[in-house]
Amino acid sequence: MASYDYDLFVIGAGSGGVRAARVSAAHGARVAIAEEYRVGGTCVIRGCVPKKLLVYGAHFAEDIQDCARFGWHVDGCRFDWATLRDNVLAEVDRLNKAYTDTLESHGVEVILDRATLTGPHGIRLASGREVTAKTILIATGATPHVPGCPGHEHGITSNEAFHLDALPERMLIAGAGYIANEFAGVFNEFGVKVTLINRTDTILRGYDHSLRDRLLDISIKKGIDFRLNADFRGITRNDDGSLTVEMTNHEPAIVDCVMFATGRVPNTGDLGLDAAGVEWDEKGAIRVDDDNRSTCESIYAVGDVTNRIQLTPVAIREGQAFADTVFGGKPHKVDYDNIPSAVFSHPPIASVGLTEAKAREKLGSIKVYQSDFRAMKNVLAGRNERALYKMICDAETDRVVGLHMIGPDAPEILQAAAVAVKAGLTKADFDQTVALHPTMAEELVLLK
Ligand code: NDP
Repeated sequence: MASYDYDLFVIGAGSGGVRAARVSAAHGARVAIAEEYRVGGTCVIRGCVPKKLLVYGAHFAEDIQDCARFGWHVDGCRFDWATLRDNVLAEVDRLNKAYTDTLESHGVEVILDRATLTGPHGIRLASGREVTAKTILIATGATPHVPGCPGHEHGITSNEAFHLDALPERMLIAGAGYIANEFAGVFNEFGVKVTLINRTDTILRGYDHSLRDRLLDISIKKGIDFRLNADFRGITRNDDGSLTVEMTNHEPAIVDCVMFATGRVPNTGDLGLDAAGVEWDEKGAIRVDDDNRSTCESIYAVGDVTNRIQLTPVAIREGQAFADTVFGGKPHKVDYDNIPSAVFSHPPIASVGLTEAKAREKLGSIKVYQSDFRAMKNVLAGRNERALYKMICDAETDRVVGLHMIGPDAPEILQAAAVAVKAGLTKADFDQTVALHPTMAEELVLLK
C-alpha cells in the first residue's frame, strides 16, 4: 500500500478549507493546510466580516441624523475613516490568529505557502518542498474579476477598499451585484459621492424585482448616482490625479477612485489541475460531483472555487460534508434548497426561496402577499423610507415558497423566518402565530 505524508492536504485556508481541515483532523486524519495569503480566507480577511463592520460604521451616519427627533443632540460630530479602518483591520488580525490557533489546536499543520498540484497525490510548495497526500482538497476560493477595458489598472477591487489611505471625494463603482450595492451604501454614508454603473439595467440580478426596485429608489434618494446600461469604455488618469471613466450611453464621469465589483472568478489559475487530471468548466470552476469529488478520484473541491453558490455558510457546509463523508464515516450531502441570502445595503435586503417571477415560472399558480410599511422608528425619526416584506405561496398547497424583505434588520429577521420556509410551512401556519408587538417582524404574520 502506498504511504503518504498526509491523509489530507488542503489547499486554501478560507471558510471551506478550514472547516474541512479541522473536522477531518478531529476524525483522526493527519492533515496539513496550505495558505498563500492569510488564514481565514475571503470572508474573514477581506469579505463578509470587515465589510459588515464597515456597514455598522456607516449606519451611524443615519442614526446620528435620526437621533435628533428622539431628543439627542450630537454636537461637533465627525467621521474619521482611519480610526474605523484601523480598528476593523485589527479585528481581522485577531480573527486570523484565532483561526490559526483553532487549526493548530486540532493538530492541523498550517503551511503559509503557495501550493500547486503535481499529480493526483502530489503537491509542490513555493518553497520547493514536495509532499504527498492520500486525499487533496482544493478550497482556493475566488478572486475579483476585473474587466479588460483600457486603463483598468487604475481601478481597485473590494480587496483594496478596506485599506484606503483616505476616503476619495468621488468614487465610481462598476457592477450592481452584492459587492457594488454594499460598498456603494457604505461609502455614500461616509459622505463620498458615489456613482454606480452597470452594463445592464438590472441591479442585484436574482433577487425579487420588488426589492430591487425599492433599493434602487431608496439608494437614488440617498444620493447614489446610478448609471445603467453603461458599459466600460476606458479609464484615463488626469494630471490632477483624478480619473475619467468613459462608458456607453452616458457622459464620462470624473472621479477619484474606481472600484470594480464585477463578479468573482474561481481561483484555479496555475494550480496544476492538468497534472492531476482535474477538469474545470468554461468559467474556470472545478467540476465536482454531489460529494465534492473532482474528475480525479483523490482530489475534491469545496467553496467558491467550484462556483456553485458563492456564500460562506455554503462553503462551510461543503467542507463539513466532505470531512464527515471521507474521514468521519458519516456520509452526507449538502442540501442547496432554500438557502437564505442577504445584501447588506442601506437598508439591507434578505431573501429565501423563489422570487415572484421564478415561482410563477415554476408553479404557474401562486399567491403573493405583501406589507409595505414604514418602521415605527423611521416614522418618529422623520425618515421617509419604507420597508417591504413579500411572501410567495404555492396557490394549490398554501406552502410558502419564497420570502423577500427589505428594511431595517431584514437579514436578522429573515434568518429565523427561513426556518419556517425550509420546514415547508404554509401561509396559514404563519397566520396562526400571534404577532409580537410592536416589532417590524410581526408584519410576517400579518401579511395580506
Ligand atoms: P455579483 O455576481 O453579485 O455581481 C456582479 C455584477 O457585475 C453584476 O451587476 C454584473 O452584471 C456585473 N458584471 C459581471 N461581469 C461583468 C463584466 N464583464 N463587465 C461589466 N459588468 C459585469 O458579484 P459581486 O462581485 O458583487 O460578488 C461576488 C459574489 O460574492 C456574489 O455573487 C456573492 O455570491 C458573494 N458575495 C456575497 C455577499 C453577501 O452574502 N452579502 C456580499 C458580497 C459578495 P449583470 O447582472 O448584468 O451580469
